[in-house]
Amino acid sequence: MTRSTLIIGGGIGGLFTGALLSKAGREVTVLEKNAVIGGGLQSFVRFGEVFDTGMHIAGGLHEGGSVSRICAYLGIRDRMHLQSFDPRHTDTVRIGADEYRLPAGREAFVEALSAYFPAERTGVQAYMEALYRLSRELPLFELQPSGSVLEGHSEEFFLPVRDFIARYVNDGRLQALLAYLNPLYGGRGERTPACIHALLSVLQLSGPARLAGGSVHLAMLLREVIEAGGGRVVSGDAVTAVQSERRRLTGVTTASGRQWTADDYVSAIHPCSLLALMDHPEDLPKAYRSRLEGLPLSFSAFLVNIKFRPGTFPYLAHTGFCWEDEASVWQPENSLSHPGALLYMTPPEERQDAWARKMILIAPMAWEEVRPWASASRDEAYRAWKQRQAEVLLGRMEGIFPGFQGLVEAYDTSSPLTIRDYYGTRQGAIYGFMHDASHLAASLVPVVTKIPNLYLTGQNCSLHGLCGVTLTAVATAEALLGSGAVMGALHQQEERK
Ligand SMILES: Cc1cc2nc3c(=O)[nH]c(=O)nc-3n(C[C@H](O)[C@H](O)[C@H](O)COP(=O)(O)OP(=O)(O)OC[C@H]3O[C@@H](n4cnc5c(N)ncnc54)[C@H](O)[C@@H]3O)c2cc1C
Repeated sequence: MTRSTLIIGGGIGGLFTGALLSKAGREVTVLEKNAVIGGGLQSFVRFGEVFDTGMHIAGGLHEGGSVSRICAYLGIRDRMHLQSFDPRHTDTVRIGADEYRLPAGREAFVEALSAYFPAERTGVQAYMEALYRLSRELPLFELQPSGSVLEGHSEEFFLPVRDFIARYVNDGRLQALLAYLNPLYGGRGERTPACIHALLSVLQLSGPARLAGGSVHLAMLLREVIEAGGGRVVSGDAVTAVQSERRRLTGVTTASGRQWTADDYVSAIHPCSLLALMDHPEDLPKAYRSRLEGLPLSFSAFLVNIKFRPGTFPYLAHTGFCWEDEASVWQPENSLSHPGALLYMTPPEERQDAWARKMILIAPMAWEEVRPWASASRDEAYRAWKQRQAEVLLGRMEGIFPGFQGLVEAYDTSSPLTIRDYYGTRQGAIYGFMHDASHLAASLVPVVTKIPNLYLTGQNCSLHGLCGVTLTAVATAEALLGSGAVMGALHQQEERK
């Protein structure tokens, strides 16, 4: 008889895990609380434009990239709506009044940085080699079988990112510049392990992509894979309780009162949210639960979604990363008193012309900023606070593009509270648990649990983002299907082509 799997959470992790299991012949049911599936792939319409919630820069979708290969294996790669960044100018980084235009590609990147910092060419080359060396320490990154994530690594793998960069280049400005991607991984100079920096940097150097016309399209394709395998994705019905008997999960109840049962269960939501839903959380060891509850979280963000007056602002095939000074690069969160990182991007349409219809501003932000309203009603003071935040960010854009505010037809904002409620994530943490160089092991959560038919997936297990979560989905699916089951089938399919 076909073994059944119930997945709690229809976000990136839940859908990729469900699609991989469906492809392997499992009967899959995914339960999603929101009306729209996708989690970080959700899109929404505002002012007549489609905006994405949590997928603006997609790593691993380049030719030969791991996400691209998994999507090809699932048969959806050719139906994705991808838009490339300009490889000669993938990112603009502004630190103070200085602007740096950075390309994709290992050699081009070294050349660009060496042109800005000629005395550091040798150091930049050595840094680049170290980045790729560290990324190869994780075979899963290239869809190769691997043992323990934490064993057999170089000492550099665990170094705080600031120390790692300082080993190779001396110039303080260049050190900050090399850390410019840290808003994409919750990076902090003294805490984030070099391995996370290396993986995200290598993904960016390989050529990131954009999901054009709304990232939710990828969620729909994954749902098709699950349905083609005889499974289903049920949206708009949150799991409200998880039952167990004799240390095995026996069923879940949803907000609508429906009861679901399966042979195996995968939690694709925040592990602490799962604990809160379980009728017998004590089935999991106390030390494990305490560790999860005590783990620090990555930062949240404040977003401004902008609609431009038609034909006034050019489409940008790059992302902008801005800081007021070098020191802020290492501590990226914003508050009214501290201008941290500001990212700007013009998301592409399926048929993109020379003009941008919209822009998204993302400013990393500490949860503390919204704590006064965390469990209170969102009152006039909250609305005024949001308005001030938006004005500060729009003012920063005016400094970069004089006349910018006159081009804005309409805008709205999302705060860490929006993110918390939308994804059901703690403290609106956009990347899940924070990774700490001094005890990386503590922030990695195995996909298997002490409950034999309960598995975990999603960004809180190891790495966030499209690539991190998709690779974790492979690990989760293999935990259910048997070691090598997904990667073996994928390699065989690739060899046949
Ligand atoms: C503002 C923002 C910008 C981002 N930008 C990028 C980017 O450009 N590139 C990138 O790679 N990553 C980006 N990320 C990170 C990325 O979105 C996440 O790493 C990814 O979505 C995590 O996947 P997940 O499956 O763990 O969780 P999610 O995708 O959040 O999925 C969890 C799902 O579980 C559902 N859920 C929660 N509780 C329940 C329940 N009780 N019952 C049923 N369903 C439930 C949620 O509604 C959600 O759909 C961004 C995140 C944010 C917030």
